Order: sequence, then C-alpha cells, then structure tokens
Amino acid sequence: MTFETLGLHPSILKALAGIHYDIPTPVQTKAIPLAIEGKDLLVSSQTGSGKTAAFMLPALHRFATQKISETSQKTPNQQRQSAKAKGERARFKAAQPKMLVLTPTRELALQIVSSTEQYSACLKHFRTVAILGGMPYPKQMQLLARNPEILVATPGRLIDHMQSGKIRFDQLEILVLDEADRMLDMGFIDDIETVIAATPATRQTMLFSATLDGIVGKMARSVTHDAESIHI
Ligand code: AMP
Repeated sequence: MTFETLGLHPSILKALAGIHYDIPTPVQTKAIPLAIEGKDLLVSSQTGSGKTAAFMLPALHRFATQKISETSQKTPNQQRQSAKAKGERARFKAAQPKMLVLTPTRELALQIVSSTEQYSACLKHFRTVAILGGMPYPKQMQLLARNPEILVATPGRLIDHMQSGKIRFDQLEILVLDEADRMLDMGFIDDIETVIAATPATRQTMLFSATLDGIVGKMARSVTHDAESIHI
C-alpha cells in the first residue's frame, strides 16, 4: 500500500515524498479512504500511530480538490459574485475556519500544526493556526484576522474566542476530536459540548481516543453520525 493508492491529491503526495513518508501506517491505511468518502470515524489508536496524518491528509485532500473544482466550474458571473463574497468575508471580523481540531494540550496542538504545515507545504494559500491557553491575546487576534482554513485548539481558550465573537463555525466542514479520552479526563466535557453545539450538523466528525469504552464511547456515538469504527 502507498499514499498514491489511497487516492490523495498530487500536491499532498509531493509533500509526503519530501518528508519521506513512504508507507502509510495501519491507522492511515484504514482511515484515509473512509475519510475521503466523507464518513464519520471513531478511531481507537495510540499516540505515535500516525493518527495526525490519518485525519489531516484526507481533510487537506478535500480542500485541495474543492479549490480546483470551485474555480473550474464557475461561470464568470458566479466568479464575480464569489469575489464579492470574499471581500465581504475579509471585512467580517470573525474567523470562519473550515476545519477544527480539538486537542487536550498545547504541546499536542503545536505538534499537529507543525505536521499540518509539512503536509500542506505544496498547497497554495493554506493557513493553519493554533489557539492555545497561555498565548498572548493580541498575537492570537492577529493570527485569527488572517481567517485560517484550519484551527487547532485547546478547548478553554477556544471558548473565550467564541464568546467574544472572534471565531464562528458556520462554515465548518470537518471536526476532529483528538485524544478525546484525555480531554474528558481533564474536565473539558462542557467546553466540548459548547463547541459542538456551535458547529453545523452537516459537518464530518472524526474522533480519536486510546479507548472507546465508557463515557468516551457514549460521547463518541452522540457526536458522530453513522460512524465507521477503526481499532488499531
Ligand atoms: P503521530 O501519531 O501522528 O503523532 O505520528 C507519530 C510520528 O510518526 C510523527 O513523527 C510522524 O511524523 C511520523 N509518521 C506518521 N506517519 C508516518 C508515515 N506514514 N511514514 C513515516 N513517518 C510517519
């Protein structure tokens, strides 16, 4: 099995070759084709299994293919309207990401951002931003003002920005709950529920956890729709 046979966009394959990812790990082999199909996923896997690429590569693939088909299929009139809408978005003060990754700690968030930057290195105009407790607010406002496509966040600080109207999830297409069991252990259940309530029901949800038993399993089933389960 190679990343090419998993059906990923050529720009992503180029980036993977550059960082010497030659063979997909088991979680990547199972998760990537299902995620490309748009399925919700419940994945039990450990840190170090390659789970970041398992959720990020299909997401990047989706955004990369959307960009091509959006421009090639639009009539000139539609393209003018879309340019106008972009201008309106630029004036609008809240960031409206297409993808949100919730993760328990700042270290994990920074690792995910760094991997995402590597995976998206050959995609044009693609921004990933970390929203973390402990980072100065003015710096975060500056990052959010660039309206990044992908946010990677710890739950507490994200809620602060949502409540002050700096982030909205109306355009959200993909939600990832990473290390969900740890987030619950750390007491983030109310924050997670608040965030999920602000996202569109049409989103794709991928949940990763060391275990899917007990409370985390119950939460996992309640936030996904017709999910495929993967056990590694
Ligand atoms: P993760 O579980 O996503 O934190 O990944 C663990 C480590 O494995 C990171 O250093 C990744 O860069 C690396 N990694 C993930 N997938 C692959 C792969 N298919 N080939 C080589 N290295 C990988």
